[in-house]
Amino acid sequence: MLVQIRGATKAFGPLAVFQDVDLDVRQSEVVVLIGPSGAGKSTLLRCVNGLERLDAGTIDISGERLSYQPGPLNRIRRNVGMVFQNFNLFPHMTVLGNVMCAPVKVAGGQRDKVREEAHQLLDKVGLSDKCDAFPSSLSGGQRQRVAIARALAMRPQLMLFDEPTSALDPELVGEVLEVMRTLAAEGMTMLVVTHEMQFARKVADRVVLVADGGIIEQGRPQAVLDEPATPRARAFLRAVL
Ligand code: ADP
Ligand code: MG
Repeated sequence: MLVQIRGATKAFGPLAVFQDVDLDVRQSEVVVLIGPSGAGKSTLLRCVNGLERLDAGTIDISGERLSYQPGPLNRIRRNVGMVFQNFNLFPHMTVLGNVMCAPVKVAGGQRDKVREEAHQLLDKVGLSDKCDAFPSSLSGGQRQRVAIARALAMRPQLMLFDEPTSALDPELVGEVLEVMRTLAAEGMTMLVVTHEMQFARKVADRVVLVADGGIIEQGRPQAVLDEPATPRARAFLRAVL
């Protein structure tokens, strides 16, 4: 099991976000999290890479227990790539600089080798002609593809995506989903929060519905999306499909 979450519980002060959540993600599996706004999907993802801390429960990644000591935490963060809704590129660095930054500064990679790999990654996301551009000159879809290349540059075992297309104009959504589809086909393990139900249907191995402080339902996309078992799931899906 690449990710094993057991008994995960998180509150912000008096606000209970989720309680006693168990979730497994196998190697090369694509798991899509869906659910209403405020259900805790982002918080759960942020707990998986240690940006937020669980109040109770455990998260193991490749058999290593997530702890909040700086050493192990940094090791896990290197191993887990994350792509956010709002790109979070470094505005003062070129596209190439953004992709090279962590492998050089965090992982201590050799510059020429890192540069070569960065070029390969930018080629993979269809941006080999934008190496010297600054983020401000790119479209949202291009920025998000740079963000994906930047996360991949650390050679993560797991990629987390938090609504990667929600901030994009509709005509730019497809190019980002296409890159994600390619990654999935190459066997990347992915945990994805998205409202793109077609992506969930076509690419996810499993859809997990998060609501009311926990996992309401999970299973193959067709099962969850077309034949939800619980009234809660039916109500949510009626609202979004
Ligand atoms: P989702 O991603 O499913 O929309 P979130 O994980 O962003 O949900 O948020 C879950 C709940 O936790 C929401 O009520 C949100 O307002 C609250 N929340 C999220 N982050 C924080 C924070 N840092 N401090 C306080 N409350 C937070
Ligand atoms: Mg969210």
